[in-house]
Amino acid sequence: MSVETTKTPVDSAPENTELIRLDQVTKRFGDNTVLDHLDFCVKPGRHVTLIGPSGSGKTTILRLLMTLTKPDEGTITVDGQRLFPATEKQVREVRKKIGMVFQQFNLFPNMSVLRNITEAPVSVLGLSKDEAEERARELLDLVGLADKCDAKPSRLSGGQQQRVAIARALAMRPQVLLLDEVTSALDPELVAGVLDVLRDIARTTDITMLCVTHEMNFARDISDQVLMFDSGRVIESGPPEKIFSSPEQERTREFLSAVL
Ligand code: ADP
Repeated sequence: MSVETTKTPVDSAPENTELIRLDQVTKRFGDNTVLDHLDFCVKPGRHVTLIGPSGSGKTTILRLLMTLTKPDEGTITVDGQRLFPATEKQVREVRKKIGMVFQQFNLFPNMSVLRNITEAPVSVLGLSKDEAEERARELLDLVGLADKCDAKPSRLSGGQQQRVAIARALAMRPQVLLLDEVTSALDPELVAGVLDVLRDIARTTDITMLCVTHEMNFARDISDQVLMFDSGRVIESGPPEKIFSSPEQERTREFLSAVL
């Protein structure tokens, strides 16, 4: 698949006010060019949602930011520091600024809920056990699971596990939270609880969010900017009221009428 070059800044901010910046990023899997010279930037504190059909490259962007995959070309910077190309030491530093919540919760099954949340702050950030536990309890309170500290993940519902995963990501005090279809593995009745927690986080913290979701009402509620992807390109972007109420592109209209 070949895709056209695109240049779609989310915000046309001066360089020093961008938290995330992708310049001319190209990603290929074999002959499949998934992202072709993609540019975009996100200012601190913004909530940006990536929408579009399956396979259009949205998750690949989050995975690039998590350094789970590397671009073939281009540069990626976070908070002014280079994530790609970069040395391993630079990557380790930048990675501390980014947290991610996945579709599958990926909790450590043998550890208690509390330990799932304290493990990385202790081992990576060097917090004392007491400090990490205090912070973990605050976060469990934030996600409505203050009474589940000692439970093992297998005793929790999928929605509760995902809320623990959100608390775990926040425990690292990231500047950026990446959310990759975090409700798509959940039974329908558990979705609202997780989205409510994320709405609260969006409203009450200054964390920057980059979110891939098929939950359009949620996207409308939390987003400052919505980017519509198609075949690895941003074909349209703007505030949610514009994208959802009066999209300019036929492809966006088609997509929204299929999912809304
Ligand atoms: P979206 O999140 O919009 O559904 P993705 O970013 O997951 O899209 O995928 C974009 C394209 O990249 C798809 O064609 C997908 O098949 C391909 N792709 C993603 N990851 C891999 C991989 N590890 N190996 C090969 N192809 C991949």
